[in-house]
Amino acid sequence: MNRNSALERPLPDTAGENGRGVGVSVQALSRSFGALQVLRRLDLTIEAGQFVCIVGRSGCGKSTLLRHLAGLETPDAGLALVNGEERNRVHGNTRVMFQEARLLPWKTVLGNVGVGLKGDWRARALAALSQVGLADRAGDWPFTLSGGQRQRVALARALVHSPRLLLFDEPLGALDALTRIEMQELIERLWLEQGFTALLVTHDVAEAVALADRVILIENGAVALDLPITLPRPRERGVADFARMEGLV
Ligand code: ADP
Ligand code: MG
Repeated sequence: MNRNSALERPLPDTAGENGRGVGVSVQALSRSFGALQVLRRLDLTIEAGQFVCIVGRSGCGKSTLLRHLAGLETPDAGLALVNGEERNRVHGNTRVMFQEARLLPWKTVLGNVGVGLKGDWRARALAALSQVGLADRAGDWPFTLSGGQRQRVALARALVHSPRLLLFDEPLGALDALTRIEMQELIERLWLEQGFTALLVTHDVAEAVALADRVILIENGAVALDLPITLPRPRERGVADFARMEGLV
């Protein structure tokens, strides 16, 4: 199946409130690297449009799980389904954001967001940059941006494809505390507006609670805890108050 037909299929009945999210179903997923068994018959179901955060000790298999959902790994056994399909070949619905922005240094900010787009890519890339508040930096080089701004560009580069599932692998882990809170607010707002399904890995439990409908703890290669978070949204995190508390302003 080519990418366009995957995107143009009618939305499934389970699509999120805003119509775009896709469900995720991980069934008895197992994966070893040599003698090291990382995922052990892991089961996880995510409703279309949900925001799920994954926490767990370093090395417990969080990135490995995300890579399976992104179609970058093949399971030893079990299934990793996105919208009911194995991800081995089709990437159209799903985008990934990593701890490092991974921008191309020889392309401008706009050029980075436009990678892989066809047709009127400039207008689309600029619209995505506006969504993350960086339209005024479109013509600049990546090296002139702060770490937080680079992550905004990475977010725009994902959003420009109208993803139905966004996978975040510790996207804010390298940012300072204030920038992290601003980015949390931005990610939540975009998720509320756009209705994609979000699966975010973090080692910061407070961040997981601030963002998620459910926080999942992975231990010994399987889901050890699955906690619903029912705080109202948007979850105002009060950057200014926090800054004052920390003596930063
Ligand atoms: P986490 O993201 O939770 O920190 P990972 O999923 O990256 O953990 O890795 C889980 C374990 O699997 C780690 O011990 C890691 O070293 C190992 N691992 C991950 N990918 C590979 C690989 N391609 N080859 C060998 N070992 C790997
Ligand atoms: Mg990891």
